[in-house]
Amino acid sequence: MNFLTSKMYMSCSPFGNGSLRFVNRTLSSLILVVFAVPGLFFTGCTTITQDTSSSCKLFDVPPELTSEALKDSAFVFYSPALKGKKFFLDPGHGGDDRKNKSPNGLVTEADINLKVSLYLRDFLQRSGAIVYMSREKDQTVELKERTNIANKTDADYFISIHHNAPGKPSDRFTNYASTYYHATEDDYEHHPSNRDLARYINRDLAFNTGTPAGLASFDGTISDYLIYPGDGFSVLRNINIPAVLVECTFFTNLNEELRLADTMYNMTEAWGIYKGIGKYFRATPPTVSLKNKTTKKGNMQLKLEINSKQPVLRHTIKIFCNKTLLSEDSFSLDKNILTVDLGDAYKRETEVKVIFSNKAGLSNLPFKLLLTPEVN
Ligand SMILES: [Zn+2]
Repeated sequence: MNFLTSKMYMSCSPFGNGSLRFVNRTLSSLILVVFAVPGLFFTGCTTITQDTSSSCKLFDVPPELTSEALKDSAFVFYSPALKGKKFFLDPGHGGDDRKNKSPNGLVTEADINLKVSLYLRDFLQRSGAIVYMSREKDQTVELKERTNIANKTDADYFISIHHNAPGKPSDRFTNYASTYYHATEDDYEHHPSNRDLARYINRDLAFNTGTPAGLASFDGTISDYLIYPGDGFSVLRNINIPAVLVECTFFTNLNEELRLADTMYNMTEAWGIYKGIGKYFRATPPTVSLKNKTTKKGNMQLKLEINSKQPVLRHTIKIFCNKTLLSEDSFSLDKNILTVDLGDAYKRETEVKVIFSNKAGLSNLPFKLLLTPEVN
């Protein structure tokens, strides 16, 4: 124990190992006799312990990342939920866009976004998921191009990875983990399942990095409308699949800069995001699918099949017909079958959107159905 604590003390010493090379052995011995020996008698190892690990430790490495066996067991654990799922990872910035640098220049946001994304890609692939990326190296990819590429793949989920900076450039102290979803609850474009995924990701990201969640919400999830009212982030606005944008931590924070410069910490960030994703899919978000569609006496009726591990909360069901919320007497729920009366919707092009939550608090994955006029 003495040896370990002494070693940590030396590695954290402001003098550093280089300075010690200039101290000859005789002088070293003298110093040891004069200072260390009385120290052992009067203070034991207590003095050394106080000065060591707590002041120098920047973060805890998750146990699974210290052992291949533990890491493999995590992949086995999450694999049933992730196998075959398709993710599109988008490491923010890069190429011509490398202006975001930490206060002392230790890291560039574009690089740490890429590092975290590549680790995350590896973790997801090792769990059987399929992963696409907007970039795998330091290159320019325009914002619109990122969603264009993603929309052309068959990816199911889009995850953009960034690191944050405060509104005030002189602020070197703000630091929190936050994950953004698109729009707000009263906006038609909003889908609650995006926020669910954001919640799961942010919780494990915050836990694994030891960074608190942002104050803008209790759980660290934030609407992108808070930053750009009515528009949100380009990548979240222009994507056709469920999407979140993770602002892992603040590269502008003086202490965080030191952590972000450590590759093991970047892996830890990715591990937190990975576990959040894994837990979300293990929780099994509910889904809706069309069972059948009939038209009788001028009324179109849909039968939708709900697949949910937990009972659906009736009062959370919202059905939109061409962006108009239907009244509650327009639909009924019988076990897992949702019957919706759409009136004469068969006469025109109609978009039906369904959202609800189950008892576990999970919202359904987005469901939109486009009905085209029936030709007699
Ligand atoms: Zn960014």
